[in-house]
Amino acid sequence: MKVNNIYCLLLLVICSCSPPDQASTPTPINGETIFKHVEELASDKYMGRMPCSQGEEYTVEYLTNTLKSLGVQPGNNGSFTQDVPLLTIDGDISETMILDYGTEKVTLEKGKDFIIHSERKVKEIGIENSEMVFCGYGIVDEKLGWNDFEGVDLKGKTAVVLVNDPGFGGDDPNFFKGNIMTYFGRWTYKYDEADKQGADGLIIIHEKNSAGYPWFVVQSSWTGPQQGLSGLDRSQDCGVKGWISLDQATGLFKKAGYDFTTEIKKARTSEFKPFSLKAKATASLKNDYSECTSKNVIGYIKGSKYPEEYIVYTAHWDHIGVGKIVKGDSIYNGALDNASGVSAVLSIAESYSKLKVAPERSVVFLFVTAEEQGLLGSEYYVENPIFPLEQSVCNLNMDGVNPAGPMKDFTIVGKGHSEMDAIAEKAAKSQGRYVMNEQEPEKGYFFRSDHFNFAKKGIPALYGEGGYDHMEKGKEYAKEFKDNFTANNYHAPSDEFDPEKWDMNGMVQDAQIYFNIGYDLANSRTWPKWNKDSEFSRPKAAVKD
Ligand SMILES: [Zn+2]
Repeated sequence: MKVNNIYCLLLLVICSCSPPDQASTPTPINGETIFKHVEELASDKYMGRMPCSQGEEYTVEYLTNTLKSLGVQPGNNGSFTQDVPLLTIDGDISETMILDYGTEKVTLEKGKDFIIHSERKVKEIGIENSEMVFCGYGIVDEKLGWNDFEGVDLKGKTAVVLVNDPGFGGDDPNFFKGNIMTYFGRWTYKYDEADKQGADGLIIIHEKNSAGYPWFVVQSSWTGPQQGLSGLDRSQDCGVKGWISLDQATGLFKKAGYDFTTEIKKARTSEFKPFSLKAKATASLKNDYSECTSKNVIGYIKGSKYPEEYIVYTAHWDHIGVGKIVKGDSIYNGALDNASGVSAVLSIAESYSKLKVAPERSVVFLFVTAEEQGLLGSEYYVENPIFPLEQSVCNLNMDGVNPAGPMKDFTIVGKGHSEMDAIAEKAAKSQGRYVMNEQEPEKGYFFRSDHFNFAKKGIPALYGEGGYDHMEKGKEYAKEFKDNFTANNYHAPSDEFDPEKWDMNGMVQDAQIYFNIGYDLANSRTWPKWNKDSEFSRPKAAVKD
């Protein structure tokens, strides 16, 4: 007893010497840790971290071992991994698409005029004499009272729709957010909506400015093997999806007796009604397919007070593997994309693991697969969540962490969607930084990384980083660094770790802000909300107040 008493007294003395908040101050993010992880994951041993490859095995092992060594708990019922079944479809497109006008037939050429593919696991599929119906932008939104499919039954028919949304190129920033791309503008949205409408086919009209890229990108992205999730019932989905060139689309309208430009103008108004293009289309696909199982890696730290509420960090571990030789190198190491994000999240996990008391809410570290193949690992996770989505407070996603050095800005991709903006702004201020909107909101980057799958399910998501205003060297330097990467290293074998060129302080700054945001939310009762004019919202049953 006496010994204990002395011990207690001693403890009391020690405790009273240090102020209480200092005892609970989290360990700052360690830059050396980030560099160590990037160097490892971006080394040639990992062969560009392609899903289902030997590189995947090494990656999953490294992530699992690191989480274990930090004392992070396995996230999936005692396991650190979640199986993600992938389906690869290699479609052989028919040489032609025939448009039959009754009195006349027009032949479109594969690649040059049109491209099609199918997400269904069937050997052969096609559209045959399928009536083409122009459905404006292919958008349905109750909130806006907008329906481009009004009054039309698309069974057995092919919907022809415009790329982007009606706000693009107009002068009203409040109409479909003007030039800022909304989810309705993304082809992924149009594909999903065609499934819901029960159409046999969906053809998107390509237009360079509205799409944000030229026709050859459509050609190269949609030919060759395409990966998707396996095990889904797509039997009721729209079977054939694809694109048609602007030239051919204009001709199609003309032959049907319509002026393309006039009809686009009409499609930008809520008075628009879908109409037949008076042509029947025939085209087909022969599919080869294969399946494999990839893995998401998941760990978590159990909350000390509200363990059933979750802050979810994500970063995709995959990249594009081994490919075309460029300057004597065929390994696409993906150092920035996204060994950097994975490493930053590992460093964040390390800081959480060193806390004396776990945060009140649980914190999840999810490393997803197959982002490069179409955000598949995160899609699988939100369709098969391990931690209930309605109990998930927010998603904090890292994809490409700034290697150019510390920045004055913290740029939010998709700023304006939710209260995550204000939370990020507060955290940025405490680092002496200012918040700004992404520089190219017309390109739809908010829909192009894993947080988007969380947003779709109604979980407020944050995707941001510093990158436009260097602390010491200013905006010009930051821009040059960024542009140089995009032009020379993005999705190229030269996206390699370079300790000489990379400044870890920018990465530390961003990992720290991500830690701070998650840590504050994990110790609060806040449920961030979506803004009223966002395309996203929490399902009513999951709204907390
Ligand atoms: Zn990426």
